[in-house]
Amino acid sequence: QAKESGKNSICFYTSDINDQLVHYQEVTALLRNALAADSLQLYFQPQIDLKNGEIYSCEALLRCFDGSSQPVSPSIFIPIAEKSGLINRIGDWVIENACRQLKAWQGTALEKIRVDVNLSGRQLTNQHLADYILQTLYDHDLSPSQLGVELTENEVIGVEGEQIRQLKILKQAGVHISIDDFGTGYSSLVYLRNLPVCSLKIDRNFLHHAMENDSDMAILQAIITVGHCLGLTVVVEGVETADQDSLVKDLNCDLAQGFLHARPMPANEMPLFLADRGQIKER
Ligand code: C2E
Ligand code: MG
Ligand code: MG
Ligand code: MG
Repeated sequence: QAKESGKNSICFYTSDINDQLVHYQEVTALLRNALAADSLQLYFQPQIDLKNGEIYSCEALLRCFDGSSQPVSPSIFIPIAEKSGLINRIGDWVIENACRQLKAWQGTALEKIRVDVNLSGRQLTNQHLADYILQTLYDHDLSPSQLGVELTENEVIGVEGEQIRQLKILKQAGVHISIDDFGTGYSSLVYLRNLPVCSLKIDRNFLHHAMENDSDMAILQAIITVGHCLGLTVVVEGVETADQDSLVKDLNCDLAQGFLHARPMPANEMPLFLADRGQIKER
């Protein structure tokens, strides 16, 4: 009987790996096709200045449609793109298309907005990354300060030498640099000393836990204070309710990003969103 169940579990195990492989291959094919057909899309989620309600920046979030009405989530396809190496082409596509969008917004009410793109750690190992980003900005007649890059805390923890040099070139040129998902990893502020960083984005789980737990609240407060002492702008992600919004205001956060204010939206919805908030003034 043991033999039989052993056999069964091997069977199950095998098909599980098989499922994963099929999934991996399907997603890889989807991404390859999307790159070839140029059918990836960037959505944009505004960040709200908590002092005055103004919007100076937004995050570009990648969407990949597979024919159904809902896009495949980047939390699914980005890790697969990283594993397969497609992330380099996808990353270039994101930079190129963020710049294209910024260029299209020039001369409109959105011309001053900054677009922050997510970078994968693997892109940072490319020693031409900074050159590529600055060249792409230049090709689109944009100032480097119109673009930002976000790297997750986990990805920047181990960076050294050449990777730090890439970030320094970018920051020196005026590109905004944010640490993303802060509070999900090692969460040490010490390593920030050695990194050219402008903003700290506190992960939404951290905010959600702080609403329920006093010690998480104390830590959140401390992180915001230290962030400010280091001269960083503090952004809180995942603001979904009015309570969370007033909490982050009370805690002196600088910017909020979350469904309460705006969901990620296609570029063509951004002008209407800003107009509805009374932010597009007669020029
Ligand atoms: P992220 O960079 O931390 O982006 C924030 C995520 O939180 C986005 O998920 C956004 O839609 C979601 N979000 C924003 N406000 C709220 C809220 O109030 N509540 C909740 N529950 N969620 C909120 P999304 O778009 O699914 O992206 C997931 C992750 O995929 C991103 O996390 C980022 O790590 C990665 N990603 C997205 N686009 C790209 C890209 O172009 N390149 C790379 N390398 N990674 C990307
Ligand atoms: Mg991000
Ligand atoms: Mg994040
Ligand atoms: Mg994230």
